[in-house]
Amino acid sequence: MAVILELRCPICNRSYVPEAVQYTCPNCGPVGTLDVLYDYSALKTQLDRDGLRNQGQWMWRYKSLLPIGSDAVVPPLRVGMTPLYGAARLAENLGLQRAWVKDDGQNPTGSLKDRASALIVARAMEQGVTTVSTASTGNAAAALSGIGASVGMNIIIFVPASAPEAKIAQLLVYGATVLLVEDTYDVAFDLCSEMCEREGWYCRNTAMNPYTTEGKKTVSYEIAEQLNWDVPDVVVVSVGDGNIIAGVYKGFYDLYQLGWIQRIPRLIGVQAEGSAALYQAWKDGVSAADMQPINADTIADSISAGLPRDRAKALRAVRETNGAYISIPDSEIVAAIPKLAQLTGVFAEPAAAAVYAGTQHAIQSKLISADETVLLLLTGNGLKDIKRAQQSVAQGLRVQPTIESVRQALRLS
Ligand SMILES: *Cc1c(COP(=O)(O)O)cnc(C)c1O
Ligand SMILES: [Zn+2]
Repeated sequence: MAVILELRCPICNRSYVPEAVQYTCPNCGPVGTLDVLYDYSALKTQLDRDGLRNQGQWMWRYKSLLPIGSDAVVPPLRVGMTPLYGAARLAENLGLQRAWVKDDGQNPTGSLKDRASALIVARAMEQGVTTVSTASTGNAAAALSGIGASVGMNIIIFVPASAPEAKIAQLLVYGATVLLVEDTYDVAFDLCSEMCEREGWYCRNTAMNPYTTEGKKTVSYEIAEQLNWDVPDVVVVSVGDGNIIAGVYKGFYDLYQLGWIQRIPRLIGVQAEGSAALYQAWKDGVSAADMQPINADTIADSISAGLPRDRAKALRAVRETNGAYISIPDSEIVAAIPKLAQLTGVFAEPAAAAVYAGTQHAIQSKLISADETVLLLLTGNGLKDIKRAQQSVAQGLRVQPTIESVRQALRLS
């Protein structure tokens, strides 16, 4: 197991022993989302990057770099080791020489959030916790509900009542207690945090719980391993709360500290125009601590966040890697769904497909050049939001069950 050296605050740089703090930095409050740091020089001598595949299945092959014991019981579902595809037609379409997609929609509940929830549930089991709760725009809740169900954990969910039907159905089918909050995600988040504190439930809330990033970082370990430790120049990620981009950064950071990769890729965060708090802060040079809430409004529900909870680490991920934030209108997000599917064979939900439009913008504005290698991280499955997908395409051809009708519909003369 990886012994945690310290929990460190990215805002005030104070360091804590892991037993001392459960959630955010006591000095900075909610904006101080803590980094979980290890003794990299010790790990360097103990670990061999090519021996990882013998350490466990899927994301658990990286157990020795995760904050759980080496004999910890982990949830049985297949989380991680999602496919990474070379995407030649996508590259050509974008005017790039080389591009890949990583399909995290293939996780058990259909999104990258499974990585965080699996680690949180493993830690909860290790500590004898029986109830875990989270607020979510949908996917984190589905992930916690599904992974909780796989081990019989009691799960309590706070989601905005407006979350897409498929996501709410997932929660109920997995047997979670579901509170449909008649307000935004941001309001649901605060309500959940408050209830966790009062009732002593373990809180998975994104960026409040420092360990969600540790689960999500495994996606970068996989990217590196699947590309033979030769990482792409650029990784493009869609961003709401900023926990995924923070996790992507942390994964590459760990590998760089271990000397297993030569550099950390530039990270480009894609936001929806109606929910672009991080894009604005990055552009205007505003610090995380000074960011103010906006009214988030986008059809890409998974990246709708008025005050991104992981703003400190999300800004750092882009600033430290010389990356960028991009903001794109909803119309382009919807159009990206079929475009990406037809160029790669991967059907992604709106928030995930947004990276296609974001990459286009980044190339147009010279944030990516044609000779660079680019990976598009696809964070969620298209079946999560069928309504939006249907709006992005023409209807099928309606026919009578006759040869004549089929020929007519196909305009065969
Ligand atoms: C949660 C989520 C995101 C954004 O992640 P943040 O950590 O909120 O930035 C992007 N895409 C999908 C599919 C998600 O579920
Ligand atoms: Zn602090």
